[in-house]
Amino acid sequence: MESTLFPTTVIGSLPRPAWVLDLILDRKAGRISEEEAEPLLDRAIESSIALQEQARLEEITDGEWRRESYVKVFAERVRGFKADLHDSGMPYPAVVAPLEYHRPLVLHELRFLRARTRRRVKITLPAPYIIGRRMWHADHSRKAYPTREGLMEACVPILRREIEALREAGADTVQLDEPWLSTMVDPAFRRREGIDNPSYEMDRCVDLVNQVLDGFRDLATGMHLCHAHFDRQHGSEGPYGLIMPALQKVRVGTISMEYATPVAGGLDSLAQFPEKVRLGLGCIDHCDPRVETVEDVVKRVEEAMRHLDKSRITLHPDCGFAPSAQNPMDLDEAYRKLKAMCRAARVLREKHG
Ligand SMILES: [Zn+2]
Repeated sequence: MESTLFPTTVIGSLPRPAWVLDLILDRKAGRISEEEAEPLLDRAIESSIALQEQARLEEITDGEWRRESYVKVFAERVRGFKADLHDSGMPYPAVVAPLEYHRPLVLHELRFLRARTRRRVKITLPAPYIIGRRMWHADHSRKAYPTREGLMEACVPILRREIEALREAGADTVQLDEPWLSTMVDPAFRRREGIDNPSYEMDRCVDLVNQVLDGFRDLATGMHLCHAHFDRQHGSEGPYGLIMPALQKVRVGTISMEYATPVAGGLDSLAQFPEKVRLGLGCIDHCDPRVETVEDVVKRVEEAMRHLDKSRITLHPDCGFAPSAQNPMDLDEAYRKLKAMCRAARVLREKHG
């Protein structure tokens, strides 16, 4: 993909049609078995693939339509968690026993996608730090892991085993989702979450990503950061100055960041973006119901080019459109936004190629 100028991709999730959301919730509640749900999801995902091909993306995912959420998928597939124990606004699973890899996490998603498209395929996994933050609970988890850090460390070998399987099955890109790193830029968020030593936390977060991705060859690697969102509202806000020193230490191919949303405070922070990494430029604001024009996107990308060479820029929306299945977003709107982005990429290639 690096040989194409301004390649386009998605961050991961697409809004689920209402019947797919019902299917996921029915499966979770046991009203339908996994075996019954899978063939129906297969048919849904064929349309998610077609949508992305029609938008003319260079690299696609399956829309994450088999998952309830981008992070809970880890708890659904790895043994050691109990569902909905944790209530921080939205119910999360909590770890209650030592983790055990007893079946692949997302390999079935990748295999299905790989067999149905000639495009590059991306698969996403949650990073260890966000798993620890979301799914370690002081009341329920201490017996399994006395500390939150213990759970984070235990995720590393599981994720590495999965990535090895994904690589063998033909994944082109593996992306680790780590919104926590960027939500830390917001002082109100740090206070709310009791983070009093952000540089320690940022270093932990980056070190865990490096441990997971260390040594993988024949595979493009990425890390996605964002301000987190639900129902078009961001969970935090602020420019990226605080986290830029930590990003210098990340050993990944591409760092994907939100830059279209006003909450990211503009593109000036790109002056401190690490030199050896590709920039995944968030150039579509998924929270804004207005569909960007081609000119809007071209302008955003050209602004980024003041800080970075054009050969290092990949285009994608700020975040997945629906990181959780319950996130109420519009699928047609997402399609129109992706189409505008891909058209802008073609204009940029003509102008700057
Ligand atoms: Zn995100």
